[in-house]
Amino acid sequence: DSSVSDGSLGSAALDRPLLSVVGGDLRAPLVQGGDVRYANLDYAASAPALTVVADRLTEVLPYYASVHRGAGYASQVMTSVFEAARASVSRFVGARPDDAVIFTRCTTDALNLAAGCVPADGEVLFLDIEHHANLLPWRARAHRCVEAADTVAETLARLAAALDERPVALVAVTGASNVSGEVTPLAQIVALAHSRGARVLADAAQSAPHLPLDMAATGVDFLAFAGHKLYAPFGSGALVGRRDWLDAAEPFLRGGGAVKNVSLDEVTWTTSPQRHEAGSPNVLGVVAMAAACDALAGLPAGAMQAREHLLRGRLVDGLEALGAQIFRIWDDSTETIGLATFSLDGHDPNRVAAYLSAEHGIGVRTGRFCAHPLFARKGYGREGAIRASFGVGSPTEDIDRLLDALTRYLKEGP
Ligand code: PLP
Repeated sequence: DSSVSDGSLGSAALDRPLLSVVGGDLRAPLVQGGDVRYANLDYAASAPALTVVADRLTEVLPYYASVHRGAGYASQVMTSVFEAARASVSRFVGARPDDAVIFTRCTTDALNLAAGCVPADGEVLFLDIEHHANLLPWRARAHRCVEAADTVAETLARLAAALDERPVALVAVTGASNVSGEVTPLAQIVALAHSRGARVLADAAQSAPHLPLDMAATGVDFLAFAGHKLYAPFGSGALVGRRDWLDAAEPFLRGGGAVKNVSLDEVTWTTSPQRHEAGSPNVLGVVAMAAACDALAGLPAGAMQAREHLLRGRLVDGLEALGAQIFRIWDDSTETIGLATFSLDGHDPNRVAAYLSAEHGIGVRTGRFCAHPLFARKGYGREGAIRASFGVGSPTEDIDRLLDALTRYLKEGP
């Protein structure tokens, strides 16, 4: 299909996954009998592990041992693998030399950790488009929620006005919306915030798997993301950012590894990252996440974005041809990641999703995607909408199968 190829990316290259994933040939049983290759269009919830990630885990498993504390051979190897993983994550996000990379369990953990590190009484600003993970932790502190406008330009003007009203410590925004796939104008937000003495935290749960992150170049002060959306298994995440706030804050967890010295009367906490990493870390999770970071960083510059842009165009054009309403935050946004949320007038999202799974072996997600305030403002009910999301392991065929299945649903009913 020449409409989905451009000069730099022929349609054959477009059709093939960019990287191989574990489970890419999984079969899903169909209600009418038989089975079909599972079309996983739910990458935005948790993406399948890359084959190179699984290979890396197999490689390091024989060295499974405690890190940092063991004197034995396996512990030494594992410690160096663990710290090399920290360096990979740091490179992947383009961290500044002095930024700390703190390993967490997931993005939510990283954002809660960050919330505990904002200086006391410092106010936090966020937009109403945020995932609950980048909304609820801030509510425990001085905060203001700015309602996003229908355009990027007006949203930036509202943020500027909020920043001018009174001093703000931190602006916490998503890097890309997990609902609409639109990319947040981070560079402009950083410029606005820094010019008024505020720092910026990016919730990169959705942007890290799809866009180059360059903290040093963009000036983003803190960044949070997780392995399970980045083609690694569950259980690892990271908060990367400025040491001064991280080292002045109370430790995220209290326990072994986070201290320099303990007496019965007194504790001297150590500095970041160990300050916030008490307890035995998820070594394999971290190694897996770092392997995924290295694999994505090794792709030719722009290849992933170019492919996902074309695939999303194909998906959105197809959905619009079927009369679907595409969920958009902004009228004037141009950059998107590999996902689209949509609704079909008069059709319950859950019924549509159940039909796609049972009769076509296609996995999508429905609901309000942990962004209830955004859905409420846009006038949606509790049933929310349908989200199809994809990534480096998705063949074009999965998008075509979704469009074909929806065509049949609308023609024949469930
Ligand atoms: N932020 C965004 C934008 C998300 O999409 C998600 C997950 O859906 C999260 C945060 C929470 O991520 P985690 O499950 O890693 O805590």
